[in-house]
Parts: sequence; structure tokens; C-alpha cells
Amino acid sequence: MLPSDFQTVEVNTDLLILGGGMAACGAAFEAAYWAKKHGLRVTVVDKAVMERSGAVAMGLSAINEYIGIREGEHTCEEYVKYVRQDLMGVSREDLVYDIARHVDGTVHLFEKWGLPIWKDEKGNYVREGAWQIMINGESYKVVVGEAAKNAMATLGDKGQILERVFVVEPLMDGDRCVGAVGFSIREPKVYVMKAKAVLAAMGGAVHVFKPRSTGEGLGRSWYPPFNSGATAYFTIKAGAEMTCQEVRFIPVRFKDAYGPVGAWFLLFKSRATSALGGDYMTVRKAELEEWAPYGLAKPIPANLRNHLGLRDVYEGKGPIYMQTAEAIQNLAAQYKDDPKGFKKKMKELESEAWEDFLDMTVSQSILWAAHNIQPEEKPSEIMACEPYFIGSHSGASGAWVCGPEDLMPAEYRKQWEPIGVYNRMTTVKGLFTAGDGAGASSHKFSSGSHAEGRIAAKSAIRFILENNTEPKVDPAEVEKIKAWLLRPLEIFAKHHKETSDRNINPNYSIPRQFMFRLQKIMDEYAGGVSSCFATNKPLLERGLELMQMLKEDSEKLAAEDLNELMRCWENYTRMWIAESHMRHLLFREETRWPGYYIRADFPKMDEKNWHCFVNSVYNPKTGEWTLKKVPIVNLPV
Ligand SMILES: Cc1cc2nc3c(=O)[nH]c(=O)nc-3n(C[C@H](O)[C@H](O)[C@H](O)COP(=O)(O)OP(=O)(O)OC[C@H]3O[C@@H](n4cnc5c(N)ncnc54)[C@H](O)[C@@H]3O)c2cc1C
Repeated sequence: MLPSDFQTVEVNTDLLILGGGMAACGAAFEAAYWAKKHGLRVTVVDKAVMERSGAVAMGLSAINEYIGIREGEHTCEEYVKYVRQDLMGVSREDLVYDIARHVDGTVHLFEKWGLPIWKDEKGNYVREGAWQIMINGESYKVVVGEAAKNAMATLGDKGQILERVFVVEPLMDGDRCVGAVGFSIREPKVYVMKAKAVLAAMGGAVHVFKPRSTGEGLGRSWYPPFNSGATAYFTIKAGAEMTCQEVRFIPVRFKDAYGPVGAWFLLFKSRATSALGGDYMTVRKAELEEWAPYGLAKPIPANLRNHLGLRDVYEGKGPIYMQTAEAIQNLAAQYKDDPKGFKKKMKELESEAWEDFLDMTVSQSILWAAHNIQPEEKPSEIMACEPYFIGSHSGASGAWVCGPEDLMPAEYRKQWEPIGVYNRMTTVKGLFTAGDGAGASSHKFSSGSHAEGRIAAKSAIRFILENNTEPKVDPAEVEKIKAWLLRPLEIFAKHHKETSDRNINPNYSIPRQFMFRLQKIMDEYAGGVSSCFATNKPLLERGLELMQMLKEDSEKLAAEDLNELMRCWENYTRMWIAESHMRHLLFREETRWPGYYIRADFPKMDEKNWHCFVNSVYNPKTGEWTLKKVPIVNLPV
């Protein structure tokens, strides 16, 4: 396949939604409503198929953000405090509050569209923990994707969905983002998409760090392998300010199959213990004082829980076990004098426990079967995964975005006054984001990402109405981007005969080898699994040096076909999020999130100097990065 085989498809639209995941589906649903009112066009572009794309593709067993305002269960203020606590004080509370006040409505829509939500005998949603509700979620994404498509269909020929189109590069009109360029992964077509506003919602990133699963298990990770940093790349390259790029997420999950632990910890009240040292949360309780005030308040932040478990692992006290059998026995204990009731309860618990895995991580059930583990009889190993970038979950990486008019602190508002105050617009005019794309506002999860997509889309439509000018794009620039996107095909065609093994060639690098190089740098220099999640200034500086060389070699990425072309750009965008991560790690001279990473040269938290956001900007014109501290303004809650 050669670049000359490609046809150019030009798309002209008003709102361009990039991605088809939870945030993009929310955006499409909301945009369709407002666009119809105003006669505007909306285009959605997903690299996969919306019913099964993104992090929710395989399904989920719980909706992790539901406030329960109508039920009088919780308030938005409480949610803001919870997120503040879990993120060790670092969160954009205006954004978190804004999502919390809209998220319940989104969950009610999911139910209306057909998502089965567990109910108790009184008809109330079954809570997994304080904020989560249980679902039969194998088809969660199908339900949400279908609803987005139905909404888009109401636009008639003004609504367009492009699937299996992989987006790479932003299109700029001066400082305004006016579109994107991508290519089909099924046929030789380059898409040049021009729009009056762009909403980038292409998820977070996985496989930036070397995964624990290698060899025959390569590709298995907690985060499904589809997201590769496309949103971060898109926003960085457009010149948007980024925030919290140092705040990666490392979940502790069932070992090797990466099965979820939430239901076991929260619903079944299970304990995790080391093989030699008991329950590390009890045994090591005193160590939490080092991380006051967050270490001493409840709930204990996820990273600190990781940290205590990892301390046991590093002292050689592993494996760490989830005491599944003990938890089930405890729950059934109340029936000890009622054998029939006991049997019934055990059956119920067993089915709830298995449901959890069958909904979202079938492979966990397969692994248990393969290892002869009956969780109700035998404990299972749990382990910290490799780092991921998922700002919508318990990480916080993403773009620095405008907040809602009524909640955004005046200090932040000033930044948007010259370009327009539009909720969820990045610092680049016309470029919006949501879900994993919007930083410093974690714990939105699936429901909050959908709600945020809706917020962003409504705001983007207002932007279009108030800035209704046709996008102007330099045709020469478009041609340059097209040639650059397809270059890996040309390189492969030119050089593949110069070797007896297509994978090894002095003139090119195939994406798989390139990914291994990237992952090795991140693993060894930026605090990956094999470095026990620790790094320091000299390591990061050396890592950035190696990254620079990798960047030079990215010019020689080669692809044989469309699938490999996609792999090239997946790894290229991973490289950018990796660089941005290292620069943030280097800038923040403290350890604030042990359990996610440790700056060994600054091993303590420093509230006085580092209770702040770290923000960065890449200047596309000069290639320079600028980093700065930004004060945290708390809401009065
Ligand atoms: C393993 C795991 C378990 C989770 N468990 C829960 C849970 O139990 N409860 C809960 O509420 N939340 C859970 N979450 C969180 C939830 O899945 C995310 O918060 C949510 O999916 C984020 O939405 P998003 O739209 O930002 O990203 P995603 O939903 O991941 O969507 C990203 C979209 O971008 C597309 N895309 C990617 N790259 C490109 C490209 N280059 N071009 C075009 N399209 C592209 C993808 O195909 C996809 O459509 C979990 C997440 C993970 C990873």
C-alpha cells in the first residue's frame, strides 16, 4: 500500500466530536438536541465502533459516580470533599462540582435507555460503596452507544458518524482549532475534517509503560488496549495548557487477569493481607501519619492504600491476597443456625461475585478456572498494575479547561476572558474536551464522563453560535499533514526488501519495536513496575534524553498496511504523553502520591511549596515546553 493509493475525503461540519466513548456519546446525545434547534451539523468520529469502543467496551459491573440527590443520599459538596481527599488535595473543584450536579440525570437516562441497574427490595439502587451503584453492565456501552446514534439520527443529513477512522492531527486556523486529520483503518482514505468547534474525547492512554504481562500475555492490561493518548496528543499539539500530567493511575487488581476489586472491597467487605504480615492497612496504620492530613482522613486515598500494600511487597511479604473466602463466610455467618438460609445466601453471594467478573473482566473467571481457584474457598492474589493515564478515573492528567461561569474561581476565569468563557473549552479557542481529556477533575468515571461530554457539547454549540465563521485552513498545511501521516507506508515500501526479516531493518522501525523502546524508557526512568514506581531527577533527565532520540527515530516509523499505520500513530501519540508525563514528574519536587510514584530525591509531601497544580504548555511553533505552578482554589465546602 502506498500514499498514492489514498483518496482524500473532505468533511465540513459545525461541531466535530472526536472519539466515540462515554464522553463522546454524551456529547453526541446533547449536541444533537441543540444542533437540531439551531440547524447545525454534527460529526462524530471513532477509531472503532461506538457500541463497543473505549474503556467500557467489554462492559462494567458498577457505575462509580452516582450522587443520589433525589434520594437524599448525598450532596455535591460531599462529592467535592471526597475527590479532594482522594487526590491528596489537588483537584479543580468547580469542575468536580459541575459534574456531580449533572451526573444523576445522566444515570437516569442510562436506565431509561435499558441499562439494568440493581435494585433492592424497596426499589432503590443497590450501592456498592458510598458513591457506586451496581449494574448488569455487560452491554453498558451498547446501550449508551445506541442512544448516541439514535440522537444523531434525529439530525438527518446534518448528523454524520464516521467509524473506524483514526484521528491524529489538529487543524489550526491561527490560534483557533478548526478541525482534524485522520485516516480510515479499513480503506485507503485520508479524512480532512473542518469544523467551527472541535471536541476531543479520545480517552486516556495505556501501554506507555512496560506492562507486567509480557511474552505470551502481552497486551493484557487493566486498561483496555484501545486508547493510546490521542486526546492528550491532540490538545498538546494544538497548544493547549495541560494539567496534572504527573498524576498517573495505578490500580491494584487481581493479579494477571486484572479483574476488578471494587465489589470485593466495598460490597463484600473483604480484607487484603500479605502472606507474612497480616492486613497492611491495620499493621501499617501509623505510616499514614506521614501523609497527613490526607493519610489521617477517611476514606484513605487510593494511592496511600496502594503504598502500604507495596511496602509489604518490597519487604518480601508477598503475595498480597484478597481474602475472598473469609469475606463470603463473614457475610453468610448470620445464617449459621439456618442451613437452608445459609445455602440460599451463599448461592446469592456467589452469583453476585461471579457477575462482577462476567460483566467486565471475563478473563478473570477463565484464570480462576485455569488455576483451580474457587474464590469462595480460596483467596486470590492482588497486585499493583503498571501506570495508566486515565484522568476520568483516579488519575488526573488532561487539559486545563474552562469551568462553569457560576463556580469557576475568578483567578482561573481571567485566562479565558480574551478567547471566550466557554465551559470545558481548553486554552485553545474552539477546542473543547471531556472525560479523560479534561484534567484535574478525576472520579467522574463512566457516568461523569458522559455527563461532562454533555456539558462540553452544549457549551461548544454556544461557542459555534457566537463565533459562527467558516474555518480557514491553509491547503499547503493540509497537504503537509497528509504526506506526514502516510509516510510510514512509503518508508516500508521503499526499504522492506533490504532485509530478510521485515521486523529488523536499518532504515526503519516497525511500531511494535518502537513501542518496546518507549516502554523500556518509561519503565526504567519514569518509575515503572521494574523500578518499583520510583524515579528521581537524574533518572528523569536521562529518560528525557533517550526520549529525544526516540523522537528523532519516530521519523522512521514504517507500516506495511492500514492496521500497522494505526499502530505507528498510536505509539507516536503515546510518546508525546510520555514526554509530557516525565516533564511534569521532573518539575514537581515532592512525593504527593506514593503508591502511584515516588520521587526518591524528594520522598516527602511538601504542602508548603507544592500544594498546587503543575501546568505545562508545548509551543508548537518553537517546540519548547513551559511548566508552572497554578494555585488551587477550593470551593467553600
Ligand atoms: C478497566 C477499567 C475499569 C473501569 N471501571 C469502571 C467502573 O466500574 N465504573 C465506572 O463508572 N467507570 C469505570 N471506569 C472508567 C470509565 O470507563 C471511564 O471513566 C470512561 O470510559 C472515560 O470516558 P472517555 O470518553 O473519556 O474515554 P473512553 O470511554 O475510553 O472512550 C475513548 C474513545 O476514543 C476513541 N479513540 C481513541 N483513540 C482514537 C483516535 N486516535 N481516533 C479516533 N477515536 C479514538 C475510542 O475508540 C473510544 O471510542 C473504568 C475504566 C477502566 C479502564
